[in-house]
Amino acid sequence: MTDQCIFCRITGGQSPARVRYQDDQVVVIEDLAPQAPHHLLIIPRRHISTVLDLTGEDSRLVGHVYQVAGKLARELGFAEKGFRVVVNCNRDGGQTVWHLHFHLLAGRRLRWPPG
Ligand code: 5GP
Ligand code: ZN
Repeated sequence: MTDQCIFCRITGGQSPARVRYQDDQVVVIEDLAPQAPHHLLIIPRRHISTVLDLTGEDSRLVGHVYQVAGKLARELGFAEKGFRVVVNCNRDGGQTVWHLHFHLLAGRRLRWPPG
C-alpha cells in the first residue's frame, strides 16, 4: 500500500470509484475513461507495479483474476459474444498507472491488431 498510488487508494477505500466486484484478492472498478461499452479494471489489492514484477507466488492471484473476468463476463452478459482481457506494461505497452491491473473490455467488436 502506498499513499501516492491511486489504485492502492481506491482498493483501500480512500479514493472513490464505481466498484463492481470485490473479494479478498481483487477489486473491480469501472474505468474513468471507458474505451468500450463495458470497461472494467480488475485490480489486485496488493501493490505490484507491473507484470514484470510477478513471481511464482503470484500464480494463484493471476489465475484468480482470470476466473473473476469470466464470472463477470457471464454475469454482465457478454461471455458468449466475447471480450478482451488486456495488461499494458511500461511505456510502449501504454501503461499509465504503475499498479498492476487487468482491463476487461466488451460490448463492441474489438479490433486486432490493437492500435
Ligand atoms: P493503463 O494505461 O495503465 O493500462 O490503464 C490505466 C487505466 O486507469 C486507464 O484506462 C485510465 O482511464 C484508468 N484510470 C486512471 N485513473 C483512474 C481513476 O482514478 N479512477 C478510475 N476509475 N480509473 C482510472
Ligand atoms: Zn498501488
